[in-house]
Amino acid sequence: MRRKIVAGNWKMNGSKDLAKELVGCVRSEAEALDNGVEVVIIPPAIYVGDVVEQAGGKLAVGVQNVGQWSSGAYTGEVSADMAKDQGCEYALVGHSERRQLFGESDELVAAKVERLLASGLTAIVCVGETLDEREAGRAEAVVASQVKAALTKVAAEQWGQVVIAYEPVWAIGTGKTATAEDAQAMHAAIRVTLAEAGAPAESISLLYGGSVKADNAAALFAEPDIDGGLIGGASLKSEDFVSICRAMP
Ligand code: 13P
Repeated sequence: MRRKIVAGNWKMNGSKDLAKELVGCVRSEAEALDNGVEVVIIPPAIYVGDVVEQAGGKLAVGVQNVGQWSSGAYTGEVSADMAKDQGCEYALVGHSERRQLFGESDELVAAKVERLLASGLTAIVCVGETLDEREAGRAEAVVASQVKAALTKVAAEQWGQVVIAYEPVWAIGTGKTATAEDAQAMHAAIRVTLAEAGAPAESISLLYGGSVKADNAAALFAEPDIDGGLIGGASLKSEDFVSICRAMP
């Protein structure tokens, strides 16, 4: 049985007030869910403490990024151990915004994955092709190469801490979602890649992200290889986010 996960990535949005109101509301709604979904809130690092205070029960917390070092003179960085110490269970790594805007390479992503797993966090490894890559017919090859590169330093006993999020770059924040069929096809391909990389592919949760909304979540989550979602914009409104959590079969 794979974990079913709906995670809300707030990106650089939110406030103390949002942490209080939204998280309190999502937590009580999450308690009422009987579909086995694990709900995760991933706020900016500075609000992690506020969100952890309101979370608990079925609601877990994550960070959007960590530094690749364990500690030291790295002004502005937050470590995986610090995230764990603050009560986080999850961390995003390799989000396309980090790859594109902050120049994060596959090697850096692999180093961060190694650090996260060593700290006992679950790494949500984000992968996805650009529109140019999809139109050139290279989507599966690009995603396979990102998946393999990110997981080069995973030890055999750490696979239970790995989740993959497929987020086609052209679907992020654009209102264009991959069709459920296209997303399913990519998720099935990712499972093949995971098996080739020596991972227990059938037990690793694969999330879809990119303009997931209350009205398209059910079709996506109904696909056999889609185990949940990574939600951006729609995670900032409690009714929308809760509706997406409820859309899990
Ligand atoms: P949107 O849901 O806003 O498209 O963002 C998706 C995403 O990047 C989540 O990490």
